[in-house]
Amino acid sequence: MTQSLQHFIGGRLVDGTSGRFGNVYNPATGAVSARVPLASTDEVAAAVAKAKAAFAGWSMVPPLRRARVMYKFRDLLEANADRLAELISAEHGKVHDDALGEVTRGLEVVEFACGIPHLLKGEVTENVGSSVDSHSLRQPLGVVAGITPFNFPAMVPMWMFPVALACGNCFILKPSERDPSTPLLLAQLLNEAGLPEGVFSVVNGDKTAVDALLTHPDIQAVSFVGSTPIAEYIYSEGSRHGKRVQALGGAKNHMVVMPDADLDMAVDALMGAAYGSAGERCMAISIAVAVGDAVADGLVERLIPRIEGLKVGAGNDRGSEMGPLITQEHRDKVAGYLESGVEQGATLVVDGRRSAYRPSAGKEGYFLGGSLFDRVTPAMRIYQEEIFGPVLGIVRVKDYNEAVALINAHEYGNGTAIFTRDGDSARNFAHQIQVGMVGINVPIPVPMAFHSFGGWKRSLFGDHHMHGPEGVRFYTRLKTITTRWPTGIRAGADFVMPTMK
Ligand code: NAD
Repeated sequence: MTQSLQHFIGGRLVDGTSGRFGNVYNPATGAVSARVPLASTDEVAAAVAKAKAAFAGWSMVPPLRRARVMYKFRDLLEANADRLAELISAEHGKVHDDALGEVTRGLEVVEFACGIPHLLKGEVTENVGSSVDSHSLRQPLGVVAGITPFNFPAMVPMWMFPVALACGNCFILKPSERDPSTPLLLAQLLNEAGLPEGVFSVVNGDKTAVDALLTHPDIQAVSFVGSTPIAEYIYSEGSRHGKRVQALGGAKNHMVVMPDADLDMAVDALMGAAYGSAGERCMAISIAVAVGDAVADGLVERLIPRIEGLKVGAGNDRGSEMGPLITQEHRDKVAGYLESGVEQGATLVVDGRRSAYRPSAGKEGYFLGGSLFDRVTPAMRIYQEEIFGPVLGIVRVKDYNEAVALINAHEYGNGTAIFTRDGDSARNFAHQIQVGMVGINVPIPVPMAFHSFGGWKRSLFGDHHMHGPEGVRFYTRLKTITTRWPTGIRAGADFVMPTMK
């Protein structure tokens, strides 16, 4: 009998009541591992009501005490890191060490949130007028929601809720229905850390639950990470219903390799950035922009044996370097891009369908080996669209200016990198490129927790990036208080705009 998962509402695990369920698969075997309840509008409303009731108390807890819950949660994350990584591998498919890495990157946001007493300090100006002082402070919004994708079931929720909770908000997480077990364990750990009931809930579900959150009058803000069409929908629907929204979307990240780059270093970087997590990362490099034919030929020659030698296998097999894709449907979609690239004239140098790992008989995992295209051009679908799989394309350009123009013309602007030994090109690149996160000889420039994460163009809808100082701004609103105490001096009635006379 397949295990049925639950929601986490009001400080405990509760059964779904909608009667609707989705299947959760083990992508390494194709077997159904659990059923996830898909919440109804009423179940979402019940979680929002619990959160609203909890807000009055939680928002009044002094920031230092809220930070102490985060300290405890941080320790519990560390103690349970292996357990979390195993759940991630089992439902997402990524290899164990990669899963541990995402737990650590999430934990670092919790460490950032532990500094909330300092982060919430306001500003004071004495004597803005005669005997008048002003101070500004940031207050929590109320009940806020997070909607997250399948590819980082621990890290992406932790880009959001540690900061939101530490600021004094109550949080409702609607995680991906593909790998819901990790967020449920995070909720239990928060509970164990002493978070009062109702402050954090996990409501599993699909579009019905998302729409219930987007339209609920008591949800003040929505954070979203996922694909661009859905990000755009969340942004417009959420804004239309008067909510503050940050919606991070898809990506097509380019890595420029200059003629003076260390090619071996660039190839190491491309291997990890293109094929790590089977390319299912929003910061994956999917296009290498080779400046000059010599660079392109050098990359192809070095990449072929490395890609063919990739150890593809189940995420829980400690010898694997790359696991399966998330679903059969997604695997077939990625394989379809290999056909499309060939049809449109790119050279398929390594075909992942041929090198694909074969699971043992009777077990049908969603595996695809690494693929490499050369001579990709901007007119091709494999250049324009996010593939979200282990497929790297090489675009050949003649010079640096052509590389920059190419990247700036792309609709996405999440991450990018340049590999060079030349300070001039590196500085110029960082300055000119129309992309939110830039690496100089760093292929995946994911900002640390105390900076903020976010792309430009159609990779982010809204004004705020996630976590770091931008996260604190997103989850709080500014209030400015101007004070005069009676001093015996009467200013008299004034019918004109107050100015400094
Ligand atoms: P997705 O957009 O399919 O799903 C994301 C979330 O939206 C899930 O919780 C899902 O249940 C919900 N959702 C899906 N369809 C919906 C609909 N029609 N209406 C309302 N809600 C809906 O994304 P995914 O496949 O889970 O994740 C992969 C995508 O996420 C990729 O495009 C990747 O680039 C992107 N991503 C972006 C970032 C970033 O920081 N920019 C980070 C991670 C992933």
